[in-house]
Amino acid sequence: MVVKAAHCVASDLWKVQREKCSKLLCPPARFPDSIRAMNLLVIGSGGREHALVWKLAQSPHATRIWCAPGNAGIAQERTRKTSQAVECVNLGAEDLPGLLAFAQERKIDLTIVGPDNPLALGIVDFFQKHGLKIWGVNQRAAQFESSKVFSQKFMEKYGIPTAAAGTFADAAAAKQFCASLGGRCVVKADGLALGKGVLICANQAEAESAVADIMVGKAFGAAGARVVIQEFLEGVEVSLHALCDGRTAKIFPTSQDHKRALDGDRGLNTGGMGTYSPTPFLSDAQLADTTKRILEPFMRGCVAEGIDYRGLLYPGVMLTKTGPKVLEFNARFGDPETQVYLTRLENDLVELLDASASGTLAKHELRWKPAASVCVVMASGGYPGNYAKGKIISGLDAAGKLPNTKVFHAGTALKDGQIVTNGGRVLGVTALGKDLRAAQVAAYAAVQNIHFDGAQFRRDIAAKALS
Ligand code: AMP
Repeated sequence: MVVKAAHCVASDLWKVQREKCSKLLCPPARFPDSIRAMNLLVIGSGGREHALVWKLAQSPHATRIWCAPGNAGIAQERTRKTSQAVECVNLGAEDLPGLLAFAQERKIDLTIVGPDNPLALGIVDFFQKHGLKIWGVNQRAAQFESSKVFSQKFMEKYGIPTAAAGTFADAAAAKQFCASLGGRCVVKADGLALGKGVLICANQAEAESAVADIMVGKAFGAAGARVVIQEFLEGVEVSLHALCDGRTAKIFPTSQDHKRALDGDRGLNTGGMGTYSPTPFLSDAQLADTTKRILEPFMRGCVAEGIDYRGLLYPGVMLTKTGPKVLEFNARFGDPETQVYLTRLENDLVELLDASASGTLAKHELRWKPAASVCVVMASGGYPGNYAKGKIISGLDAAGKLPNTKVFHAGTALKDGQIVTNGGRVLGVTALGKDLRAAQVAAYAAVQNIHFDGAQFRRDIAAKALS
């Protein structure tokens, strides 16, 4: 039987704040001997994958963990039970044959897939065909993210609330539809386009040029052969996450991302500049109602279509005056949503992901710390445009020693014994607090310790929720 590690509750928080440790993030371990020992492989290299590795490493089941390709922060983690260093492996997330050979050689018991690309390439089907257990959605289920046309048609067929929309393979018909919406609309390339294939248009001229860029100019290549055009929805945007096992879906608490580069939601769209959880914009009762309206028809539709949805479902939702509406489905953990969720999650993540892959999730109850979590992304100067790499990062040790704080690495590398920047989003500085205000103060206190040339970050993560 698995004995759960003791965990802190909210009232413990301020006691542990005064101690020089993060008991709330890493509760004291009490491991029985009867635990199932597992070798784990995590695929990916971002902040999401660091959060996954960090949380998996706390499980008494985790004997050894490898991460392909990983980053400098992931390489500093250790399994709590066996004190084994996590090893980063020089294999790309899309090198399916290489990853399979590695998993076979190291006798990996469970592979965990972070990013969307390997899922869309069919890594889950590929591993399963070779008899290996892997967590993530299969290629058919990955279409919810890899094809916006597929998603839109599914939502319409199964009555999932979404924007009024049309799907088109012909530019002239697409432009006509934009006109029927008065030109105020959102033009979306069908396929994966590195998160850039969504163009928000204020009028018909902008809509026509968006359609022409995507469908005729092929701005996103083959991803733009078809488009979805949605009415423009106004409201507050929130992120939902649910862990699924083919039949059962377990909803997470709410969170909110900050997609724009600059304070006050100005500037260019990015992969995400920060998150917090929970968000006050959706009460528990509204979350339950949203689950009914979105998750239940989603799971019913999957069963009806013969889609075995095992993995993470992450709908982007607009809370409009007429109720919640789905903007898009993602078929993996959000980044940086994962950082705030996993710092709040009390369950053993190995057990949850194993249950999701095995179809036994109904036996598990998700448990969350009553604390709030805030993640502030520190990015390279210039991101999401061009940026330099190789800048030395200082202050990580000091930030890491602050109570209830965890600095997740995204674009970092080890060079000549020093940790340097190696990507657009560099770090996800995450802190827990008894409420959002306390978590926000703690996250920004940690950010103050960290320096690298050109570092940029938003100063208003979670501010909307507090104003
Ligand atoms: P997507 O990748 O479809 O989520 O779109 C990226 C971003 O564009 C979303 O996070 C929203 O901020 C915005 N967006 C997408 N669809 C709509 C819509 N129908 N109305 C308003 N904003 C949208």
